[in-house]
Amino acid sequence: MNQRDYAWPRQPLVVVCVDGSEPGGEGSDQGGYIERAIDAGETPFLASLREKATFGYADCVVPSFTNPNNLSIVTGVPPAAHGICGNFYYDTDNDVEVMMNDPSLLRVPTILAGFNQAGAKVVVITAKDKLRRLLGVGLDIAEGNAACFSSEHADQVTLAEHGVENIVDRVGMPVPDVYSAELSEFVFSAGVVLMESMRPDIMYLSTTDYIQHKHAPGTPVANAFYAMMDQYLARLDAMGATIALTADHGMKAKHGPTGEPNVIYLEPLLRAAGLADFRVILPITDPYVVHHGALGGFATIYLPDSNDQAQARDVIDAVPGIETVLTRDRACEVFGLPADRIGDLIVVSTRDHVIGSAPEKHDLSGLKDPLRSHGGLSEQRVPFIVNRCLDACATGRRNFDIFSHTLNHAPGGVAHE
Ligand SMILES: [Zn+2]
Repeated sequence: MNQRDYAWPRQPLVVVCVDGSEPGGEGSDQGGYIERAIDAGETPFLASLREKATFGYADCVVPSFTNPNNLSIVTGVPPAAHGICGNFYYDTDNDVEVMMNDPSLLRVPTILAGFNQAGAKVVVITAKDKLRRLLGVGLDIAEGNAACFSSEHADQVTLAEHGVENIVDRVGMPVPDVYSAELSEFVFSAGVVLMESMRPDIMYLSTTDYIQHKHAPGTPVANAFYAMMDQYLARLDAMGATIALTADHGMKAKHGPTGEPNVIYLEPLLRAAGLADFRVILPITDPYVVHHGALGGFATIYLPDSNDQAQARDVIDAVPGIETVLTRDRACEVFGLPADRIGDLIVVSTRDHVIGSAPEKHDLSGLKDPLRSHGGLSEQRVPFIVNRCLDACATGRRNFDIFSHTLNHAPGGVAHE
């Protein structure tokens, strides 16, 4: 698939993308979610993996947002190849700013579809419905050999469109609120139910970062979230599944000592410099803004005039809290982005800052807790955890290597003691 080889799974493979799972280690926020939960004694299964299986780290793709990374994980390639470089983008052909949810935007097939078309049984469960259609591209639902649905719309599943039915009854949980820990719990719970009933060859579970946006690593709510996850992972492990866990991005505190968000608004800055013909795009934008107010660590700017581009670059680069400003060509080279779907400049903020367009364009009324967010280089490190001992060396690993490293480098059926 996409110029990479994948061995056929010997046991069911469950790849888990834990949305916004800031990892521990150097440069981490509060020591990392999983590490702090292990140290608190809340996650015995993950603790056992740190003891005797594969417990490491990898880099995600930048912008460190949800859609680009979920699509990189399931295709095994960077956004330059698969085309999904944000949750949101500016469609220059049609002069509209749109969500990057439509399957027609995806430029390569997924590993999930490749296995499904080769005869493997595949199950995909995502928390938010925004990812469902992209992740489900190419799955042969009608053949009864694949299922793909979201917990957000779990009460609307049909055998014809999603490959399962009555999932709410079978899981035994009500359909969760879109802003809740239960939205992610439903993903795991349904995963266990379908591992028992369908026993798929490949399962992909993708959660939501609602908890991580609001609660720092090691806090009671965060630990409870990972304790919940740990119990389901232990059940999948007991059923003989290979479990490979990574994240779409990390998550960092983006506020000052008083809890006010550290925001750099680009439009007033550019106007103050005398620029008028520009368009700021924030690729974090999605319909679910309550927990982040559409404030993230990455922006892209369209400026038709090349003199304006140079001037904007100088102006923005001088602002404290900006990590880097790159031209389109340089950004494509450094981050592996599709040139036709980003602006003339890309802007990345430092680990404690976020970027906004203009104050009046951000509804921060739903932000009840000090802002935590992601999008830049500072949230690029993610966990890379497998309940097997991989025989491959771990350097230079990306989160989108998780299918290949786990399928190709986990010999035998059980973790080495
Ligand atoms: Zn995410």
